[in-house]
Amino acid sequence: RAQTDFDSKKDHCKMKITYSIIAPIYNESDNLSELYRRICEALQPNGEPWELILVDDGSTDGSTDKIRELAQADRRVRPVIFARNFGHQIAITAGWDYARGQAVIIIDADLQDPPEVILELAQKWKEGYEVVYAVRAERAGESWFKRFTASLFYRIIYRITDVKIPVDTGDFRLMDRKVVDVLKQMPERHRFPRGMSAWVGFRQIGVNYKRAPRYAGVTKYPFRKMLKLALNAITSFSYFPLQVATFFGFFSAGLAILAIPLVIYLRMAGIPQFTGQATTLIAVLFLGGVQLISLGILGEYVGRLYDEAKGRPLYIVREGPKD
Ligand code: UDP
Ligand code: MG
Repeated sequence: RAQTDFDSKKDHCKMKITYSIIAPIYNESDNLSELYRRICEALQPNGEPWELILVDDGSTDGSTDKIRELAQADRRVRPVIFARNFGHQIAITAGWDYARGQAVIIIDADLQDPPEVILELAQKWKEGYEVVYAVRAERAGESWFKRFTASLFYRIIYRITDVKIPVDTGDFRLMDRKVVDVLKQMPERHRFPRGMSAWVGFRQIGVNYKRAPRYAGVTKYPFRKMLKLALNAITSFSYFPLQVATFFGFFSAGLAILAIPLVIYLRMAGIPQFTGQATTLIAVLFLGGVQLISLGILGEYVGRLYDEAKGRPLYIVREGPKD
């Protein structure tokens, strides 16, 4: 028996995994079993071997135990349990590091990205595309505020970044092994995975899908986190905010050059313009404000530079998969 056990184990190791599905988990205990069931069901007809990497991003609602249970029952489920909450983007990164499959898929754990779409993405992959991103043609069950800010976000990012990051596209995507191997060499700490996966190039294509409402629980992306994500996206892929400061500098300097002779002329001609403190005060406050904002923008970049320089590990794993 020991021999057969050994043989079957060997076979399992030898068997190449086709799909690595990465799901970042932050307090999603009520979604986990359904997520697992839907993924099993969706990939069943396909027959190709897969693994499900559940990255627990410091959950406090019992998700961790649920992940352990799933992994115990099915060895295709591989748990990566963080020592604390590191954030969605970092959880995805850990998934890349642990994935062994030929195609790597990132999916939300709340079933907003239907697992059935994975096969549609895989279809394009088999046609030779190396990055297949899922485009949110429709979003159900989300507030107008979320949809509005998301839409605005995608369009601003598209306009000001140097990389053409497809609009209305989240992290739900399939990437070829080649692409993931490149991404693993990008050590940046303030990450925007969608941007990174656009930046690498390769053959990319979008597939439309209907984003479903959350299966259970509430969003883990409050406005504060969305803002942080937007800042990371902009600073990681653009110098535009820094250039805005330069533009403002030239603009107000130009204005002053025009205004100085005008004011001198008006004074000489005895026309009482620009008297009183208010004018001065407004000008000083306005320019002071512009300068402080510019300083803040500069600070965002410098702070990120400092974080990079410290070179701390991106994440800390408390408990990894057994194989
Ligand atoms: N998530 C995470 N860490 C966080 C916040 C979110 O791993 O700090 C996960 C979350 O569990 C989910 C995915 O990221 O699987 C997307 O989050 P959510 O559904 O809350 O975002 P939304 O769809 O509302 O934008
Ligand atoms: Mg969601």
